[in-house]
Amino acid sequence: MTDTLKLHMTVEIMGCPTVCQHCWAMGRSYQAMPLKDISWVLHEVRRFCEAHGFDYGGFPMHEVDAHPQAVQVLHLFTEIWHDDFQPFTTTGVPLATRPDWREILETLRELNAPTLWFAFHGTDEIHDRAVMRQGAYHESLRAVEFTREVEGMKSGCNLFLTKENIHQFDQLVLDLPGLTGLPPKSRCVSRFCRTVYYALRQPAPRWRR
Ligand code: SF4
Repeated sequence: MTDTLKLHMTVEIMGCPTVCQHCWAMGRSYQAMPLKDISWVLHEVRRFCEAHGFDYGGFPMHEVDAHPQAVQVLHLFTEIWHDDFQPFTTTGVPLATRPDWREILETLRELNAPTLWFAFHGTDEIHDRAVMRQGAYHESLRAVEFTREVEGMKSGCNLFLTKENIHQFDQLVLDLPGLTGLPPKSRCVSRFCRTVYYALRQPAPRWRR
């Protein structure tokens, strides 16, 4: 344990192709931050922290793999802030919909982040409705498949339980370990599930639709 204060910053470098109903970050598909601006922010935070004796670090948000130059973004965060991305959280939707998915996965492996972490809110249209994107469930499954195609990469997931998907629970618990390659003993029930359940009951603000 160190007494050094740490400044932890998330940098909104790219929006999300999904607009999840429960999102605390109000995800939506805003424009990509240019690489030169990202580099400037990272250098300035590092300069400030070094001048004041703080540790520093953070994460590019929200769907980093949706950024057109995702590989370069990952390298910038690693080189300037020495970040690691383990596990790398994603819906999988950007990976499933871009042709350079293999390059992104190989970059993550090279940066010592061999685990992708997905989130499921049920199956098929129940999941799609939760993230407000038609076809998102199957896009996420495709991204899981891509992950398994790249040697050394692994995937895991959170499964969020709601009134809508509880009837699919048995099936998902059977399917997801096989899908993600996780050993069956790695399952556990999230303690923040109630928060997510509560958030899902709130109507999405109109401007997010
Ligand atoms: S993927 Fe994450 S950040 Fe993006 S909208 Fe969904 S919950 Fe929000």
